[in-house]
Amino acid sequence: MDDALTLQFTKTFRGGPEIAVDLRIAMGTPGVTVLFGPSGSGKTTLLRVLAGLDRPAEGTIRFGGETWTDTARGIYVTPQHRRVGLLFQDYALFPHLTVERNIRHGLRSLPGSEAGHRVAKLLDRLKLDGLANRFPHQLSGGQKQRVALARTLAMQPRLLMLDEPLSALDAPTRETVRGELADLLRSLQIPVLLVTHDRVEALALGDGLAIMDEGRVWQHGPVEEVFRQPANENVARIVGVDTVVAGRVLHIADGMATLAVGNARLNASAASLQPDETEVFACIRAEDVILFKGSELPQASPRNRLPGVIKSLAREGPMLRIKLDCGFALAALLTRQACEELALKEGDPIVAMVKAPNVHLVPREVRHGVRD
Ligand code: ADP
Ligand code: MG
Repeated sequence: MDDALTLQFTKTFRGGPEIAVDLRIAMGTPGVTVLFGPSGSGKTTLLRVLAGLDRPAEGTIRFGGETWTDTARGIYVTPQHRRVGLLFQDYALFPHLTVERNIRHGLRSLPGSEAGHRVAKLLDRLKLDGLANRFPHQLSGGQKQRVALARTLAMQPRLLMLDEPLSALDAPTRETVRGELADLLRSLQIPVLLVTHDRVEALALGDGLAIMDEGRVWQHGPVEEVFRQPANENVARIVGVDTVVAGRVLHIADGMATLAVGNARLNASAASLQPDETEVFACIRAEDVILFKGSELPQASPRNRLPGVIKSLAREGPMLRIKLDCGFALAALLTRQACEELALKEGDPIVAMVKAPNVHLVPREVRHGVRD
């Protein structure tokens, strides 16, 4: 039996792009697959078709050994029988029901005692104790999200889908909730599909990353691989970060973290790190990389001085994009004039400088116990 989720379908809305999805997600090791792409690219449609809320024009959807949709054979399994959970962007809580009754809503067919037991466990697990009798309007954004998650999990879904779960929250709340959500998703033993158009969320929450644009999945692979090696220019433009590289925090002192990245060491602001975080992605914009030749190097601190070699130069409008090997792959963007002044060419030894505050760290959620 094929232990994978496979989607192959087309669907067209009048006036919209043709959505033609071809995606296979292995389910042997549960984890979070992030669907990432601009607005209108078909992400919500993919979730709705997978959940059985919308029917494709033609195609198949398979979940392990089960066929949920097969238009050619006239197979269509109802949403209830797919036993999947879909968390909507706006959480869709019932405003006139308490937290407890919202969570209990889908469990009407269960005996009262069993439903009560399940709800109590979820209230505890999602830190909603004490809020059971509140109504949605009496909750913060983060609490609403936890109620919506509890309601979805109460049905014991075999697959969890979340559509932009953090987009309804304001920025400071979003960061806290992102960490809580990462912990929770990590503890689930079911595959998760999460939609976002936020790069940091994709990095922080995803194990796998599927890039969508104009109704198609252009690339699907481990998060870091997709950021590091976009399959084509379109994907590169969508992921939009020049250097994303995995690193390990070696130590933190005076608010500054020292990381091991490939064969190099990098200094970065530790502001975005929790004390116990060691695995991170370091993100560096190509514009923030300055190149020097020879020995006349400014000694200003806090800076990263990264000796390396030029691997390639490519024109990009008035600029030149330069790929470097500094013990890890680093991209720089310079004006053509600056390149001419430095007489840069392939194979040249070079020193790249990046200010520590320009190395942005994103905690990397390593899913212990789920991926192992
Ligand atoms: P995303 O979630 O990535 O923003 P959607 O899946 O919502 O994208 O939409 C993909 C395309 O399909 C868009 O062009 C959108 O306008 C169109 N679309 C989605 N749902 C409907 C609908 N119910 N009726 C008409 N067009 C739709
Ligand atoms: Mg959407």
